[in-house]
Amino acid sequence: MRTKADKLAVLAPVRAERNKAVMEQPFYELVYALQTTLDVEQLLGAFSLHLAGAVPHEGWRFSQVEQGLQLVGGSPADHSCSYQLQLEDQQLGEWRAERDHSFSENELATIEAYLCRLVYPLRNALLYRRALESAFLDPLTGTRNRGALYSSLQREWELARRHGQALSVIMLDVDHFKAVNDTYGHAVGDTVLQQVADCITTCVRASDIVFRYGGEEFLILLSNTPQDGAMHLAERIRLELARRTHLASDGTPLRVTASLGVASLYDGDSKEVLLTHADQALYRAKHGGRNRVEIALH
Ligand code: GH3
Ligand code: MG
Ligand code: MG
Repeated sequence: MRTKADKLAVLAPVRAERNKAVMEQPFYELVYALQTTLDVEQLLGAFSLHLAGAVPHEGWRFSQVEQGLQLVGGSPADHSCSYQLQLEDQQLGEWRAERDHSFSENELATIEAYLCRLVYPLRNALLYRRALESAFLDPLTGTRNRGALYSSLQREWELARRHGQALSVIMLDVDHFKAVNDTYGHAVGDTVLQQVADCITTCVRASDIVFRYGGEEFLILLSNTPQDGAMHLAERIRLELARRTHLASDGTPLRVTASLGVASLYDGDSKEVLLTHADQALYRAKHGGRNRVEIALH
């Protein structure tokens, strides 16, 4: 049975005041360690390592709802103490330590004194993480941008090669999109692009990653997915997109279709070859009449 020994909000300046006795402990190593990284997971790992010298614990967890963060370190245990970390009005998230016996009052006071040193570096690391994330998002559609593609593709490509797993990509280009802009205006074109992105996102699995590859082109990276699975998904996206009706600003219903090219990684293919194959398949889909899916020829 897991028991919560304590749960309270930590307001850094107030707690620092109230833990004067504990503050006299040498914190400089901790403070130094917390300045060495802006990575949330590394920061919390370093924090746990330093805290363990004063309050032994087996594991820690941190959750931050706003950024969808769930981080775990060490191993879980039956007893825990958890804190809602807060800085002024800002909720930073819930941090907890776990071990196989309960925490004493003195230990809780020590933990609080340590947490006081954590809150500012943690706030900075969370801000940095959010800034990094938004730098890799396309502001119009909320999908990832082309800058994000290369690091994701590199990671998935390495994983696929190392573990002998399948890897596929789908390249999608909206058909005759210029005509949408020309007929209804650029603002309606933008809305349609958002809806296309929404349609793709609702069709894919959580592990698939959607990128806006160019103006009206999207790329979907499918880890651990062989060619027939990718083909299936591409066809599902094509049908769903053709089925949906969009509304122009004057209420006129409008429909769009897309052409899709599917390619899968074969032995020895580079990342660039994979993208070229998807592009060639897309080209054939366009020239085959649009609103269709084509698979790469090897
Ligand atoms: P095809 O079926 O051959 O793909 O024809 P297309 O008209 O879709 O292709 P083309 O490359 O001729 O035109 C693409 C259009 O996409 C032209 C460009 O203005 C438009 N576009 C690109 N980015 C955006 C955007 O962010 N917003 C809007 N509204 N339009 C965009
Ligand atoms: Mg295009
Ligand atoms: Mg197009």
